Amino acid sequence: MEGAAQEDYGNWVICQSCSGPISGPQALDKGTNENGTPNEEYCIYCFKDGVFTSNMTLDEMIADSVNYAEMADLSKEEMLEHARKTLPTLKRWKQA
Ligand SMILES: [Zn+2]
Repeated sequence: MEGAAQEDYGNWVICQSCSGPISGPQALDKGTNENGTPNEEYCIYCFKDGVFTSNMTLDEMIADSVNYAEMADLSKEEMLEHARKTLPTLKRWKQA
């Protein structure tokens, strides 16, 4: 049963902090800017009222991702692997 979910996952707009989908059938709510407008890059769990909701490090975010494995339809190992590959490429974590 793995595979299909992962392929779809790649086509959705994902949060540039946690890689959660912010488009697609299981989309999380979008984050909000300081002026209350929706933020198109981050989900509501990461970014609210123009600021990040936590000061997590990249390593902490990767470790935390296993909590969302079930939601993403992945095993914890798959989720961790996905996080290790994906999170460092996201805007919040990318090193200039
Ligand atoms: Zn997020």
